[in-house]
Amino acid sequence: MEPVIRPFDQPVEPRAEWDTPMFNLAQQQFLHAANLMNLDENIRDRLLFPQRTLIVSFPCRRDKYSEVETVFGYRVQHVLTMGPTKGGIRYHEDVNLGEVAALAMWMSWKCALMQLPFGGAKGGVRIDPSKLSRSELQRLTRRYTMEIVSMIGPDRDIPAPDLGTNAQVMSWIMDTYSQQIGHPVPEIVTGKPVVLGGAHGRQEATGRGLVYLIQEAAEHLRLDLKKATAVVQGFGNVGANAATFLTECGVKIIGVSDVSTGIYNAKGLVLSAVAEHVARTGFLKGYPDAQEISNEAMLELECDILVPAALQNQITEANAGRIKCKLLAEGANGPTTLEADEILSRRGIFVLPDILGNAGGVTVSYFEWVQNTQELAWTLEETNDRLHKIMTGAFRRTLLRSQRDDIDMRTAALIEGIERVAQAKLLRGVFP
Ligand code: NAD
Repeated sequence: MEPVIRPFDQPVEPRAEWDTPMFNLAQQQFLHAANLMNLDENIRDRLLFPQRTLIVSFPCRRDKYSEVETVFGYRVQHVLTMGPTKGGIRYHEDVNLGEVAALAMWMSWKCALMQLPFGGAKGGVRIDPSKLSRSELQRLTRRYTMEIVSMIGPDRDIPAPDLGTNAQVMSWIMDTYSQQIGHPVPEIVTGKPVVLGGAHGRQEATGRGLVYLIQEAAEHLRLDLKKATAVVQGFGNVGANAATFLTECGVKIIGVSDVSTGIYNAKGLVLSAVAEHVARTGFLKGYPDAQEISNEAMLELECDILVPAALQNQITEANAGRIKCKLLAEGANGPTTLEADEILSRRGIFVLPDILGNAGGVTVSYFEWVQNTQELAWTLEETNDRLHKIMTGAFRRTLLRSQRDDIDMRTAALIEGIERVAQAKLLRGVFP
């Protein structure tokens, strides 16, 4: 039976608990690719849903001892065929099961595209971490870790940082898990501080990997980076690092944004001064040497390279016609909707799709896990050399497939990933 491709806001049957617009986007992207590649329909139906999901609710005690808030947490493992599962943990006030399930599915294709021995997973807690004190954040993290402890493990499922979490949160997860086991288990999470077994370069790996790809894409598009301009949405881990590495390539950054505002300077922003302002005040708002601009207007600025590195669902049917970049380099997960993709493709905008664009993070996470399990320590140079090789290899495979089959880069990247997972599934067979 031919799968019916529907608009992403119309659900796939059978409907399930994770049914949300974001999960439907992930499913429809998958179905679109599965259809084009004539994927075996049994495998197609198996991959449409996550294999394991866990929803927990648990108490979070505030610093005021009498205040105890009930919060929701999730962990989803999409495919257990390829090895342990791997995926970040997100703290955000809108996190829900559908969002985490979509992110887990994208992790499966991403790991397979990069040829890493992992299936996809993701976790999240529905809370705004910016409203928590450090001790509240620590208690929340330790309790969430205990709630999902039966699901994670160094050879089962290995978390990492994502939106709203960082190396400190990973340290608390590692400590909580190690306390349960009775000895240090650094390989339970990646994205740790280096002193706890973190990989050199992991912190900036997603931004660095994205810029390696931008260099490849620029060569393909004959775009001179030394004369190019860029706009970056999101000034967190991915956005700030991508902006910094772009500057090192000679690119002029004319706009960046965060949750507080966008800032624009046609002459180019001095990133070190911007970073210093954010370090001091917490936000971009109030940065003196630029004009304030809304996030929406910033996405539509004329530039060569646009890097969405904040949230999903930013480039939609509503604004895709007004995006003026030549190269859209996706650092965030799911920033572009299906309808927007079609418009961008018609308008000839070259896209580095999220599962390729932000794969530098999971690639160096893989390096970290390899080093932890074998008690090795690579230098930053070794890490970056290996990262460069893997990123450029994946770029070339994706570009080749896109040109050979006359499909856009996102579909090509998805097919590269899905094909590998499907092949592994066929080889393993069905139990019993
Ligand atoms: P982060 O929490 O470090 O930074 C997020 C940034 O986005 C912050 O500057 C925040 O102010 C900004 N932001 C939030 N809401 C916004 C809004 N409405 N408009 C504009 N900016 C807004 O998170 P991160 O780790 O940099 O992750 C960003 C994206 O990259 C997410 O989609 C995440 O899934 C993806 N990603 C991250 C990694 C990683 O290694 N950290 C790896 C792969 C993908």
